[in-house]
Amino acid sequence: MKKYIDTSFFDLFKVGPGPSSSHTIGPIKAANDFVEKVSGLSRDKLDKAVRLEAWLYGSFASTGKGHGTDRAVAVGLLGEQPETCDIALLERLLQDEDEVYRPAVKGAPKLVFKREDIHFVDGEHDFPYQNTMVLKVLSGSSVLFEKTYYSIGGGFIICEGEKPEEREMPPYRYKNMESLRRIVEKYEIPLAELLLDNEKSLSGNSTEDIDKKLDFIIDNMICAVERGINTEGILPGPIGLQRKAKEFFERSNALENIPDRFLGMLDAFTLAASEENAAGHMVVTAPTSGSAGVLPGIIYFLKNYQKVSDEKMRAGLMIAAAIGFIVRHNASISGAEVGCQGEVGVASAMAAALLAYVNNCDFDRIECAAEIALEHHLGMTCDPVGGYVQIPCIERNAFGAITAYNAYLVASVGDPKMQKVSFDEVVEAMLETGRQMPCAFKETSRGGLAVCSICG
Ligand code: SF4
Repeated sequence: MKKYIDTSFFDLFKVGPGPSSSHTIGPIKAANDFVEKVSGLSRDKLDKAVRLEAWLYGSFASTGKGHGTDRAVAVGLLGEQPETCDIALLERLLQDEDEVYRPAVKGAPKLVFKREDIHFVDGEHDFPYQNTMVLKVLSGSSVLFEKTYYSIGGGFIICEGEKPEEREMPPYRYKNMESLRRIVEKYEIPLAELLLDNEKSLSGNSTEDIDKKLDFIIDNMICAVERGINTEGILPGPIGLQRKAKEFFERSNALENIPDRFLGMLDAFTLAASEENAAGHMVVTAPTSGSAGVLPGIIYFLKNYQKVSDEKMRAGLMIAAAIGFIVRHNASISGAEVGCQGEVGVASAMAAALLAYVNNCDFDRIECAAEIALEHHLGMTCDPVGGYVQIPCIERNAFGAITAYNAYLVASVGDPKMQKVSFDEVVEAMLETGRQMPCAFKETSRGGLAVCSICG
């Protein structure tokens, strides 16, 4: 593990097709990387290359069909990038078992793959990460080139044998909430300013460029909510789940009772982005695609109903990112590694921190809000029914947003210095809980709600 956090905002917040950052965006990125590496092989190897295979292990094998991992691999091999992916192409891929696809490899005229070349390998494996994918280029039965990729949550991937990219050391070096607090106190610097300085150093971008990129992320979140509250019908897959966000929004909008209206609106906005994710449409990982409803729901609400300024929203998003960075650095944001506490739980903590910031809370209360939100997701399992990111995922996002709001409210009273559990301690507890959680409850769809009778 690196000593200090050197994750960029735009590593964490990625735009791409749903329904799962680890099972959709990660595989697209791995396939993109593989295509690039294969393009660099010798002329001799490229002339001999005739077939490309993908072998999917662990949680990829058990829930990959429902998550569309096979189509994600295929679209990545065809050269589509997550951010600009052609959704219509993604949706029609692999329907015909005889269709032959040509990967975007330069200089390999005979290299192709078909649906039968993407293999789901059931059962236990010895790879160090749950979501493992091996990509191979073959000539007849001999392997000319292969690479193993791990998808470690939130769309982050590791290529086996490769060192993580070396980055410029950020000026403010922290590894957890406590070290972040010490820096803020020592330099008497506002938290958002500190995070912005680190981002400038990591990415080499100017403040103006970073603002534009943050606005792009916020716009994509808002678009996902808007599409969701304007769409009705049945979500893809065998469950036959009906979208609810549009009806919920229209009904809540007409309510006179203020508490019902507030809750209904927040539910509707969060459900909307989550339904878009389940439909395989464009969302933002926040920190993952499965949990891509919580922050957009809260942001949409703040922007449209509390009129939070763009500047404040950008700073709030940076602070939400810092919460995600700390969890990712010290534990995990992958449902396959630690269950849903690492996805919706972390999304809720990020949203609670953003809410606290935009409502003028100081560092202590921001930490307190994030801690409370994560604390009340500890132990939450990942057991998507039939392997589809629909039940419990969509409604769970709405509950995550409500918990975030409540966590901010609870954190805004009392003396935060008297808070008995720190954010770092709750992250540690989350990791330990995840480690002790049986595999059946970590995105394998082999236990809990996942095996209920809905899918027959
Ligand atoms: S249950 Fe949670 S972690 Fe699992 S797929 Fe659904 S949203 Fe992701």
